[in-house]
Amino acid sequence: MLESLRHIVQEVDTARSFKDALDTLVVSVKQTLNTDVCSVFLVDRDTRRFVFAATEGLNKEALGKVTLAHNEGLVGQVGLKSEPVNLEDATLHESFHFIPEIGEEPFHAFLGVPVIHHRRLLGVLVVQQTQSRRFDENEEAFMVTLSAQLAGLIANAEATGETSHLGEVEYDHLDAEFVGIPGAPGFVIGTAVVIHPAANLDRVPDKKTEDITQELLLFDKALESVRRDIKRVSTQLSASLPKEEVALFDAYLHMLDDNALGDEIRVVIRKSQWAQGAVREVIQEHIGKFEKMKDSYLRERAADVRELGQRILAYLQDLRRHKTYYPNDTILVGEEITPSMMADVPQGLLKGIVSLRGSGNSHVAILARAMDVPTVMGAIDIPLYSVENHIIIVDGHYGHVYANPSEGRKKHFQKLRQNEEGFSFELEALKDLPAVTSDGYRIRLWANVGFSGDLVRSLDRGAEGIGLFRTEVPFMTSERFPTEEEQRRIYHEHIRAFSPRPVTMRTLDIGGDKTLSYFPIVEDNPFLGWRGIRVTLDHPEIFIVQARAMIKANAGLKGDLRIMLPMVSKISEVEEGKELVERAYREVKEEGFDVAAPLVGVMIEVPAAVYQARQLAKITDFLAVGSNDLTQYMLAVDRNNPRVADLYQDLHPAVICALREVSKAAHVEGKGVGICGELAGTAIGAILLVGMGYDVLSMNATSLPRVKWVLRQVSLRRARLMLSKVLRMHDTESIVSYMQNELLEAGLERVVARHTST
Ligand code: PEP
Ligand code: MG
Repeated sequence: MLESLRHIVQEVDTARSFKDALDTLVVSVKQTLNTDVCSVFLVDRDTRRFVFAATEGLNKEALGKVTLAHNEGLVGQVGLKSEPVNLEDATLHESFHFIPEIGEEPFHAFLGVPVIHHRRLLGVLVVQQTQSRRFDENEEAFMVTLSAQLAGLIANAEATGETSHLGEVEYDHLDAEFVGIPGAPGFVIGTAVVIHPAANLDRVPDKKTEDITQELLLFDKALESVRRDIKRVSTQLSASLPKEEVALFDAYLHMLDDNALGDEIRVVIRKSQWAQGAVREVIQEHIGKFEKMKDSYLRERAADVRELGQRILAYLQDLRRHKTYYPNDTILVGEEITPSMMADVPQGLLKGIVSLRGSGNSHVAILARAMDVPTVMGAIDIPLYSVENHIIIVDGHYGHVYANPSEGRKKHFQKLRQNEEGFSFELEALKDLPAVTSDGYRIRLWANVGFSGDLVRSLDRGAEGIGLFRTEVPFMTSERFPTEEEQRRIYHEHIRAFSPRPVTMRTLDIGGDKTLSYFPIVEDNPFLGWRGIRVTLDHPEIFIVQARAMIKANAGLKGDLRIMLPMVSKISEVEEGKELVERAYREVKEEGFDVAAPLVGVMIEVPAAVYQARQLAKITDFLAVGSNDLTQYMLAVDRNNPRVADLYQDLHPAVICALREVSKAAHVEGKGVGICGELAGTAIGAILLVGMGYDVLSMNATSLPRVKWVLRQVSLRRARLMLSKVLRMHDTESIVSYMQNELLEAGLERVVARHTST
């Protein structure tokens, strides 16, 4: 049954349209369970009624016409209970409701399972049989598993409007709305440029092409590249492999011949199918034939054909990527947008980002915030292929995306955008004014930097120092570890630009979701693995070179250099780190450089460090809270996972309590304390942190003027009062709603996010 399950999901996944997918599903399930009927009822989002959407065994004429109230009949029961209903004789059940139009009279056995996506009921999957019998445990488990796997597909079809007019393949639904997670604030209307996921033959959809010649050309190029690869590998291995094995490569080449697969694929392209779709179609057909063969040797050839198809597809996708056209209003849309994809967009054209994976605290979102590019993360239901080149709206405040927006929707967002632009313009006047509360309390607002453009932006927005230099960024954009001199130059540029103001450099913080292509770290649990200081202490040669580069970068400048250690979970890590920094300092001095000893601080990012904050403060010069990671580790919520994004709450009472403890601990030891997580750049976070006594708030430069605007209108007394109330609250929702009300009452509604729907 497991094999059938996999097969059905695969078939459904690769269907040409949603209607085809449902039709395939009901036929396959009926066959697998050997029942008389399989049907699908879908919930209409507007009317909340069940629509009879697909069937094998009942009257197909009634499809799309018959509907049931949300509590009507046995289907309604399944929905109300949100659990399977398994009946030996449905006609005896009190909720049984005979619907003559669909012709279910003669059926007795009934099994209905709900289809639920993110806690929402999307429909009910039903099997029925003439004879009275109870579906057994295995059959029920099969249906439940299938329904869980179908939920994503149905949610996706619903969002694109395919559920409302079953059968239409073309995607033209007006105002299709997709919900994700806010990544970077702001609104933008632009053109979706889809960066396709890595090759997966089974997931390539059909797509009509207008330019057959171009598709044929792409295909020929891809085919040639695959041939070249095979020939190269075959020559390389011919000395070490037995003759029969080498012959396999020849067989591959034959398969690609013009009178074999190659030509079949061309025929399909000539019928207006795009090249990737044609490859999938032909290859799947051959795989199907091989899989049916009795001879086990021939059956295994299916894997070879798949392998070839996969290779051609990879090249085709690569060719398309390189040919990507970026319009002036590019909105990058992709399964997982990466910093390098952002870098591929020519300067000035990137206006928005939508990533199906990732969350508000993924590094791409942090980068987008720094660059002021409205972003939605975790929009898992967006059909990538269907939105390509379509107009979409990105609402980065609420994490919503609208495809093919109506005129009304567009006007609404244009107005919101104008208001925002007006506000940003007003904020420019604050650039040279100090960050001081209305009762005269001075706060340091510093910037987080690392990505290109951050330095200029920070100076431009009036940052008084750098609170976090993510030094891993130059490592990530290089193809090998950068040399001491290469690093020194980058660090020097920053220290010089800010001198004599403080510049806080974090030692290399790789691991987790930050990887280096030339230093792969493969782990089951990367966020709990070899990260930050754990890596650099194991590689003192990397640590020392970096520390030397930082110290040398300050030569002759007398800048205020601070070095900060990430991901610390024990005292000895700090002791070892300090020793290495001291050694680097001695070496640089001995080499004759005129340098000052840097301050050394610790990032508080792990719960253990919160409990040892006093001891850590005692042996270092300052503490800086990394609230992004601290929230992740305190709440045991992956900061990158859209599924648990609503549980990732940096205003959770436990996090607030920890932040306050760290501030107290640092001050008891007479040391300064700052925070450089994203919380510092929010209005609510900034007020509470000031109330807690944080000396430095470090944030992306884009948020800085807003935070300054807020703090200049709030008194320290009021901030402390708000904090004392918040500390008595039990959940994030109460904290957020209380703080939002306070902001509204203080006349700060411009920084309170409002619902944007029209
Ligand atoms: C943090 O964890 O809060 C932090 C500032 O570091 P990063 O986001 O780079 O992990
Ligand atoms: Mg961190």
